[in-house]
Amino acid sequence: MPSRVGPSCARVDLDALAANVATLRLVAGRAQVLTVVKADGYGHGMVQAARAALAGGATWLGVAQLGEALTLRGAGVSAPLLAWLFTPGEDLVAPVRADIDLGVSSLVALGEVAAAARAAGRTARVHLKLDTGLSRNGLPLAQLDEVLRALGPLQAEGAVALVGAFSHLACADQPGHASIAAQHREFAAALAAIEPVAPALEVRHLANSAATLTAPQTHYDLVRVGIAAYGISPAPALGRPEDLGLTPVMTLTARLASVKDVPAGTGVSYGHTYITPAPTRLGLVPLGYGDGIPRAASGIGPVAVGGRRHHIVGRVCMDQVVIDLGPQSRAAPGDEVVVFGPPAAGGPSVQDWAECVGTIGYEIVTRIGARVPREYVGVGGQA
Ligand SMILES: *Cc1c(COP(=O)(O)O)cnc(C)c1O
Repeated sequence: MPSRVGPSCARVDLDALAANVATLRLVAGRAQVLTVVKADGYGHGMVQAARAALAGGATWLGVAQLGEALTLRGAGVSAPLLAWLFTPGEDLVAPVRADIDLGVSSLVALGEVAAAARAAGRTARVHLKLDTGLSRNGLPLAQLDEVLRALGPLQAEGAVALVGAFSHLACADQPGHASIAAQHREFAAALAAIEPVAPALEVRHLANSAATLTAPQTHYDLVRVGIAAYGISPAPALGRPEDLGLTPVMTLTARLASVKDVPAGTGVSYGHTYITPAPTRLGLVPLGYGDGIPRAASGIGPVAVGGRRHHIVGRVCMDQVVIDLGPQSRAAPGDEVVVFGPPAAGGPSVQDWAECVGTIGYEIVTRIGARVPREYVGVGGQA
């Protein structure tokens, strides 16, 4: 008897993830690789992605939130781990106890980290997160002196150890953009200011995936790679994944729930935004916006069935979409529909989806919902 766990599946190839990280490690040269596994490993599964990244040669892991970092520690992941986004009043004692390095972006955060370290009875490891031009999270450089003055006594007391300094680029996906050099200069100046307070930082880091691939001068001691580890190009202008030596990790598939032959003039899905111009065969795909299929893909989202390209007709619903299989189709209920995956899967790419709805590949994979079961294959599969 067939026994699939659901009507759809996101197959996650952990060997591909490990191989991508190994490739990025070569690109990074002498710099270590931190793999970013925030947002559930960009939708791939955080713990599994973390283990596969470590198998591929990453020596650090990074997440945005403290809860994400604690989940990794709870799963037994003991690698160096950095979390950089928290708000006043969040519990920092548990992260300090769990040996999670903290990205600090303000004097207030530094004070809270120090207090947590005293409560935990151990030294908190801190990376200063510097705003060199992204104007997002990060310490404004005008406040750097003040923070460094506060750091001196905290380090002497043993509450805090400044082990890293980092910043994040605004336009690394546009190689040669003037802001890259400008941010690099600001970062170098900030490092010089930090030097007297922390002469032996373990890691200085600036590069994301795009900069890792295109701007070696930004590599420093550590590169923070997210999207490229998952086999997705940080920007179409940098090339397709295969041009960059990367393999897409996730393959999203579903089974046709039904097929039906309809006459010309049939209105399809909510609002009847599509009326069949001629007799055709419609296929019902059990994935909708509740699973992360963008509603903006109504009428255009690409899929493949039996190696043939088709697209969504009518509106994307919460649980399902309808595709036009064409009048000659021999597709049958239960046939596999490839929504996206690596070239070998024979379907559209994540980039195809991103372009068709006017977004980026990051958003396509990260939004694949919890209802879609992840099926892990490869090295980290036992994780
Ligand atoms: C998410 C994130 C990254 C990873 O960026 P990619 O473009 O996915 O490589 C790196 N650094 C910081 C601070 C981030 O927030």
